[in-house]
Amino acid sequence: MSQTLEPVLGEATIQELREAVRGEVITPGDDGYAEACLVWNGMHDDKRPALVVRCAGPADVIAAVGFARSKDLTVAVRGGGHSIAGFSTVDDGIVIDLGPMRNVRVDPEALRVYVGGGAVWGDVDHETQAHGLATTGGLVSTTGVGGFTLGGGIGWLMRRHGLACDNLVGADVVTASGRLVHASETENTELFWGLRGGGGNFGIVTQFEFAVHPVGPMVYAGPIFYPADASAELLRAFRAWAPEAPDEITALVNLTTAPPLPVIPEEWHGKKVAAFVAASAGEVEGGESLVREFRTVAKPIADLLGPMPYGVIQSLLDPLWPKGIHSYFKSTNLTGLDDGLIDALCERHLAAAGPQCEIHVHQMGGAVGRVPADATAFPERSMPFVLNAVTGWHDPEETDAHVAWARAVVAAAGDAATGRGYSNFQGDEDAVGVSYGPDTYGRLVALKDEYDPTNVFRRNQNIRPS
Ligand SMILES: Cc1cc2nc3c(=O)[nH]c(=O)nc-3n(C[C@H](O)[C@H](O)[C@H](O)COP(=O)(O)OP(=O)(O)OC[C@H]3O[C@@H](n4cnc5c(N)ncnc54)[C@H](O)[C@@H]3O)c2cc1C
Repeated sequence: MSQTLEPVLGEATIQELREAVRGEVITPGDDGYAEACLVWNGMHDDKRPALVVRCAGPADVIAAVGFARSKDLTVAVRGGGHSIAGFSTVDDGIVIDLGPMRNVRVDPEALRVYVGGGAVWGDVDHETQAHGLATTGGLVSTTGVGGFTLGGGIGWLMRRHGLACDNLVGADVVTASGRLVHASETENTELFWGLRGGGGNFGIVTQFEFAVHPVGPMVYAGPIFYPADASAELLRAFRAWAPEAPDEITALVNLTTAPPLPVIPEEWHGKKVAAFVAASAGEVEGGESLVREFRTVAKPIADLLGPMPYGVIQSLLDPLWPKGIHSYFKSTNLTGLDDGLIDALCERHLAAAGPQCEIHVHQMGGAVGRVPADATAFPERSMPFVLNAVTGWHDPEETDAHVAWARAVVAAAGDAATGRGYSNFQGDEDAVGVSYGPDTYGRLVALKDEYDPTNVFRRNQNIRPS
C-alpha cells in the first residue's frame, strides 16, 4: 500500500479534489505548505503530509474522507492541533484540517452553543461570555474543542457542570463511509456514548452542540504561589480540603518553576515554586471563603487568587504554552495522595529536567463523579485526583531528559495509580491500554466495528476494530 505522492496521487486527482472543495488543498510545493505542516507540539513538526485539506464545511470533510479512502491514505484529523502525541499530523498521508470551521453560535434562551469542529476554546468563551454563559473548556484557550471534548475535557467548571463531554448534547459526524449523521441522546445513541470519551475514533465531528450555564463574567479565580519548601504542606492541605470542597470550586496544585512574570517578585523568577490554582463557578462574593485555608498554609510569594473575568482565567496560561514548543505529557488517575507519594512528587519536582516541567494534581469529584460509569465512554470517574506530568522545552537535545522525567513522575504514583489515565494527557501514541478498562474497551470496539471497520480514523488513541 503506497502512500507516497507518486504514483498514487497524480496531479489530475488532486485537481479534482481542489475543484470539489470550497476550502484549500495544499500539497508540497504549494505556498503555505510549510505552515500547514505545523502543529502545536513542535516535536511533530517534522511530519510531511502528502496533502492538507483545509475544510470550509461538512461537504469538504466528506470529500476529503472519500478521497483518502479511494487512495488508501492515512488520515490525520486536525481540530485545534494540540494533540500531545502528534495525532493531528502524519507523514505521507492526508491531514483533514478543520481549522477554518470555527463558527460559534449561541442560543441564550435555550442555553445551547453550536460550535464548528475546528473551533478552539477561546472562540467559544468569547461568544458565550457575551451572554454571561460558559461550558467546561480547557485551561489554555488555544486548545481545540474537538480533541478535548471527544477525549473527555478537564477544566475549571467541571466539578460544578461536568466534563466537556458531559455537556455535549449533540454532534454532527462525518463517518468513515462519508455519511453525515447526528448523534444525541435520541439519535445514534451508541455513537453518542462513544463520542463522549472515545476520542476521534468514530468519525469527524463537524459541529458540536453543548449545554451552557450562567458563569461570570467575574469569577473568583487564579493562583497563589508559595516557595517549593512549602510544597508538601500545600499538598497535604489540598488532600484534606479537596473532598470537602463544594462543587462550585475546582482546583489543582502545580509544582513548577516561577515564570518571569511581573506579577511574581523578581527574586523568585526561575526558582522552584508550588502553586494552588482554583476557579469558582459560583458567585464571586462567596469565593474567598472557599479557599481561606490556602492563605495560611504557608507564606505566599504572590497571591493572585481573587475576582477576575472568566475570560482571563481561561487564557491566563496561554503565553507559557505557545505553538511550536516541544512537549510531552504523561498522566495517571490516583486513588489518593498519601504522604509517601507527596514526598516523592516533591523530590521529582526538585529534580525537574527544565523550567517548564510541571507536576499537576487535579482535584476531581463533584459533577464529574456523579455521572454513572457506563453513561459515557469516559473511562473512570471515581478517582479523587488526576496526576499529570507536563513538560515543555525548545531544544530537541532536551527531549529524552524531559520524557524520562515525566515518566518518572507518573511512576512515583506506584500503588496510588488506579491503572487508568486520561487519554488526552498521554504523550505516547498507544495509550489505550491505560485509558480504558475492559468493559468500556469492548463496547468501544463494537462501536468501531460498526462505524469504522477498516480503521480509517486511526491517528488517535486507537480503538482497533475486531
Ligand atoms: C497547552 C495545552 C493545554 C491543555 N489543557 C488541557 C486541559 O486543561 N484539559 C484537558 O482535558 N486537556 C487539555 N489538553 C489536552 C487536550 O485535551 C488534547 O491535546 C486534545 O486532543 C486537543 O484537542 P485538539 O482538537 O486541539 O487536538 P488535535 O491535535 O487537533 O486533535 C487531537 C485528536 O482529536 C481528534 N479530533 C480533533 N478534532 C476532531 C473533530 N472535530 N472530530 C473528530 N476528531 C477530532 C484528532 O483526530 C486527534 O486524534 C491540553 C493540551 C495542550 C497542548
